[in-house]
Amino acid sequence: MVGPLGESDRDRRQRRGQRGLAFESRVERQRVRRAVDPPPEVPRAQAEAREETRHHRRVSRGGRAEHAAEEPEPRGLVKERREPRGEDQKRDQRERGRVAVPHGAGKVANEPVASNAPAVSYLGWLIGLSAGFALAERVRPARAEQPAARPELANDLAYLAFNGHLYALLTASVAGALVAFTRGLLFGFGWSPGAGVLAGRGFAVQFAVALVVCDLGQWCVHNLLHRVPWLWQLHKVHHSARNMDWAVNFRFHWAELIVYRSLLFVPVLWLGGDPGPLIAVAVFGTFWGHLNHANLDVDLGRLGYLMNSPRMHLWHHDASDEGGRHGKNFGIVLSVWDWLFRTAYWPRDRVPERLGYPGDDEMPRDLPRQLVFPLTRR
Ligand SMILES: [Zn+2]
Ligand SMILES: [Zn+2]
Repeated sequence: MVGPLGESDRDRRQRRGQRGLAFESRVERQRVRRAVDPPPEVPRAQAEAREETRHHRRVSRGGRAEHAAEEPEPRGLVKERREPRGEDQKRDQRERGRVAVPHGAGKVANEPVASNAPAVSYLGWLIGLSAGFALAERVRPARAEQPAARPELANDLAYLAFNGHLYALLTASVAGALVAFTRGLLFGFGWSPGAGVLAGRGFAVQFAVALVVCDLGQWCVHNLLHRVPWLWQLHKVHHSARNMDWAVNFRFHWAELIVYRSLLFVPVLWLGGDPGPLIAVAVFGTFWGHLNHANLDVDLGRLGYLMNSPRMHLWHHDASDEGGRHGKNFGIVLSVWDWLFRTAYWPRDRVPERLGYPGDDEMPRDLPRQLVFPLTRR
């Protein structure tokens, strides 16, 4: 049979066969070439150098190291970076030391150091933990008569959004400048915090030491909030809650953040260390703060002498001055400070008759006026 251009079937089959052979031999040649001469791979040292350069670029961008913590890096590289590398390593650790814990972790997690740390990753934890506690309270509430949509819940959620996240966004650049200024001031007085005492330690050690040191610092600041009259006016906002659930954790005047962070700035600078463990401390602090305020009946047994709990913190919110004119149970994550310093008060056979503080009728019940309230007092 002859085709339209006069090509016979035999000719066409032969031509197709030749094309097929040509294709196969081309593929084969490429395969052989790859085996003999593999595509150039980036040598490990070069890859590390590039990664290191990228990291330094991130760090030096406006003196911010936050993205270093935000972007997970390959395990190998993280491990390599922990090994001493002379001046580069020290500079790197000093830069990392600038970043403490993220803003927005609230007064409980407490991040006294102004930083521009990874608000996004912290926000994820904040949303996840909040949803988890909201669900747990619905499943096994300690006070079943307390409605889910209790009065002032919307108020407290607004506090959560502002103190837990928006405050960090609004103050990031100011906070960064203040950190740089304070470091410069300390350096001027001849004290260079360097990389901090936690530099080069493992994650678990950094986490444990930072948790204990920060928690003791917060216990001290919390005492001041109750004992210094003008600070108490600020702190009244937190104590004006009449119902208790996880959302009360972030119900506090934003100026408290300034008080906590200012007073704990130097201890955290002294600690230094990597951002990761400090962020973990902030997240753990938020978890425990939510737990302390949650409408959950959690019995920690003997662990209650070490860790705070919803039952013990409920007495901190007792409206009466029973157990201490200036308050009781100032612990945040750890209760051990209250037992050690004799500020613990916990009648285990009953719960407080009323939550609030003596004379709490003075406190407006909406957020805008609550924020103005401390300014109207002396
Ligand atoms: Zn208090
Ligand atoms: Zn509280």
